[in-house]
Amino acid sequence: MIYLDHNAITPMRPEARAAMAAALEVFGNPSSVHAAGRAARDLLDGARERAARAIGAAPGDLVFTSGATESATLAIRGVLGAAAARGEGRRRLVVTAVEHPCVLSLARALERQGTPLTVVPVDGRGLVDPGAFRAALGPDVALACAMRANNETGVLLPVGELGAAAREAGAPLFCDAVQAVGKIEVDVRTLGADMMALTGQKLGGPRGAGALWVRPGLPLAPVSGGEQEKGRRAGTENLPGIAGLAAALEAAVAGRASEAERVAALRDRLEAGLLAVVPRARVNGAGAPRLPGTLSITFEGCDAEALLMAMDLEGLCASAGAACHSGNTKPSGVLLALGLTEDDARSTLRLSLGWTTTAAEIEEALRAIPFLVERVRAAIH
Ligand code: PLP
Repeated sequence: MIYLDHNAITPMRPEARAAMAAALEVFGNPSSVHAAGRAARDLLDGARERAARAIGAAPGDLVFTSGATESATLAIRGVLGAAAARGEGRRRLVVTAVEHPCVLSLARALERQGTPLTVVPVDGRGLVDPGAFRAALGPDVALACAMRANNETGVLLPVGELGAAAREAGAPLFCDAVQAVGKIEVDVRTLGADMMALTGQKLGGPRGAGALWVRPGLPLAPVSGGEQEKGRRAGTENLPGIAGLAAALEAAVAGRASEAERVAALRDRLEAGLLAVVPRARVNGAGAPRLPGTLSITFEGCDAEALLMAMDLEGLCASAGAACHSGNTKPSGVLLALGLTEDDARSTLRLSLGWTTTAAEIEEALRAIPFLVERVRAAIH
């Protein structure tokens, strides 16, 4: 199997497996005062310190969650709740058009319930113009949201500038950094955001474990009832998940610089090889700063779902758009936001490389994909 779907999930790192196995032996509840509870509390505190250090945060500012979707929900609902409690009339959300559904779908659902929403468009490369973002802000804005790296195209948004614009308008900025952490430098002290989400399965950690970093002093209303995580995320902590997340995060960040260089070279080889051989192929986000391992490529006239099935038969795993949207017949909203036609959006393949990807796998993919594209094109026309 040649696995080129690391933006959906990347294999577990040995460090994460070992940390999870050890944590499974610690059965206590961190909230209990007895010895078993204290052992669990020590494990939790240690994981929090390691995870926080990896992103330049103070341990007390990290909230462990079940993943980025919950982190985004806590950020958005928490800030809206706190703003409503203050009664300052800050109710509006401003989000970019390329946010993951954990932000965009929630924002649209809240809009249907009466929360005003402004969606800031992107240009043809997938970039948000900071001037347009600034123009969308105002004294009625409760929260702005901008992701660091897009999961479909890999395009990097200028979160520093967007966060500065949000703060000028008196609103905090939430950043979904799920695809960026461990791939490019992410340090909450320089990111320019006020809250940041990350998740385990994109880092070589487990599924169902994530975190939200919250700038100290930022008012966040509780969205669940209970005392854990300073009342910000109630419920008994997922200790094995948290231990695995912290270990994966530490390992991903420690190896980031050399890994990013290696993966970028493989992605560039794959991209150049496909463009050289496959006619009517275009790279989405070309010309914008991008993640090292993501390649979103449109093969005009080649149905991506059919291509994925043909690739699967050859042992090649990839995605059309985002994995979480597959099985969905709607074309990717992210690609439409870049200005692709519906047909082109449906003819787009996402190849994402990661820490286990080898040069031999890329050569094999380069041998197989052009042939499969032509076969799918010929079957359709
Ligand atoms: N944000 C981005 C950019 C993602 O790629 C994903 C992964 O699917 C998520 C958020 C959601 O993460 P989770 O499944 O941990 O909630």
